[in-house]
Amino acid sequence: MRLRFAPSPTGQLHVGNARTALFNWLLARGSGGTFILRIEDTDVERSSRESEAAILRDLRWLGLDWDEGPDIDGAHGPYRQSERLHLYQSYAKELLGAEHAYYCFCTTAQLDAERQEAVAHGRPARYAGTCRRLSRDTAAARIAAGERPAIRFRVPQERDVVFTDAVRGDVRFQADVIGDPIIVRADGTPAYNFAVVVDDALMEITHVIRGEDHISNTPRQILLYEALGFTPPTFAHLSLVMGPDHGPLSKRHGATSVAEFRSKGYLPEALVNYLALIGWSPRDAGGSRAGGPGGDTAELMAIEELARRFSLERVGHSAGVFDEEKLAWANRHYLKIADPARLAELTLPYFNDAGVRMTPDATGIAFLAFAMSMASASVDRLNQVPARLALLFDYSAEAALRDPGVREEMRGDGARAVVTALAGELASAPRLDRERFRAVANQVKARTGQKGKALFHPIRLVLTGHAEGPELDLAVPAIDRGADLPASAGIPPILGCRERAAAFAEALKKS
Ligand code: GLU
Repeated sequence: MRLRFAPSPTGQLHVGNARTALFNWLLARGSGGTFILRIEDTDVERSSRESEAAILRDLRWLGLDWDEGPDIDGAHGPYRQSERLHLYQSYAKELLGAEHAYYCFCTTAQLDAERQEAVAHGRPARYAGTCRRLSRDTAAARIAAGERPAIRFRVPQERDVVFTDAVRGDVRFQADVIGDPIIVRADGTPAYNFAVVVDDALMEITHVIRGEDHISNTPRQILLYEALGFTPPTFAHLSLVMGPDHGPLSKRHGATSVAEFRSKGYLPEALVNYLALIGWSPRDAGGSRAGGPGGDTAELMAIEELARRFSLERVGHSAGVFDEEKLAWANRHYLKIADPARLAELTLPYFNDAGVRMTPDATGIAFLAFAMSMASASVDRLNQVPARLALLFDYSAEAALRDPGVREEMRGDGARAVVTALAGELASAPRLDRERFRAVANQVKARTGQKGKALFHPIRLVLTGHAEGPELDLAVPAIDRGADLPASAGIPPILGCRERAAAFAEALKKS
């Protein structure tokens, strides 16, 4: 099998297109086939190298690698349409020679007028065929006189085009309703329908999986395959990815591009897994039901497993709705099982955004990885990690005691006793790990008679400065490990539990 993803580099990679890329990739990888990346940049005005670079970066980030593409030579290159113009020219010539195509001298103004006239009379707005009947000699004379014609494909009349779509079954179009499409514009650039056929044929593509917005192009392409003597590939048209209101997912629904979801802090494996589930089901027919938050973890699997199980038979043709809640559910799962050191590295830009500057070395990363347990089981996205870990860096007893709720709590004798006992215990204690923390808490319990919430809530206030937050069993060892880091670790200074308790007891006395 040879499959391809053929993006136009005219902007960011939309998640709908990323899903198209993914389905092609999954089928290629699952079948031991070849995955090709082709850049469709014939729209000179809208295409850019920046957009191409961004698309390549996003595909790599998702883990979708390609065997042939603009940056990897293969036997079927070049892989940018702008570098293949000679091929389109030569096949256009072949079509002209065989009378499958003809020169068209109609001006834009003329075509616009015709279109308006057709619409006004309730006729389909297709090309009237004005230049269809021009003789070769007339056309040659007009070109010799300096006119620059487009080239149109002569659509055979009075026949149907039928193809079997791997997702939608038999699809039938009447050729009559297709006006003769332009295949090469007057400026020499090829039109999409023509370039795509020449490329898919020469690149020996066996399966074309793409969005259903292209389904009306397919009959034109099939007729071009026939005229050029090529065998058409198998087509599979995917339902579009919709927003919650069942309109195509667009800006008005919020984030739409892979880059936006990355910067919101989704992991690539979560996005890939979730995108695979829009329109495809890993389950046997009949057993399928929507997974979701709190839902069906059988749907969560690594990309290799997706590739092993993917098949077009299990791709449905009803529209898939993009549900960010379900993406967040998948992300939570992957955050929990991810390597903490990787999460630490990935979180650095978000710390930077949150104003916590750091340049950790290996020791610093190992520390952040250790501290990550406070966050990775309780956030939806990486961009929420800095807030969960803020208690490491932003400790202030005074600030804590300015909070009316904390002041109220500290009016109780029990709470004050806990503060004093804790400060006393820690004054001579070594840095805390989980066991030592438990021992200290037990001592405080014994000295004050406080237990449960009356014991642990004041301890939380003293050691973290906040009324709520991660489990103390996780936070306390992280704080004290952070307090002993050398400056070379590149982590902002962290006040240890001993120092926190002393500062809190002092501030409480003054308040
Ligand atoms: N460049 C086209 C697009 O981005 C490719 C369509 C196709 O796969 O044939 O929509």
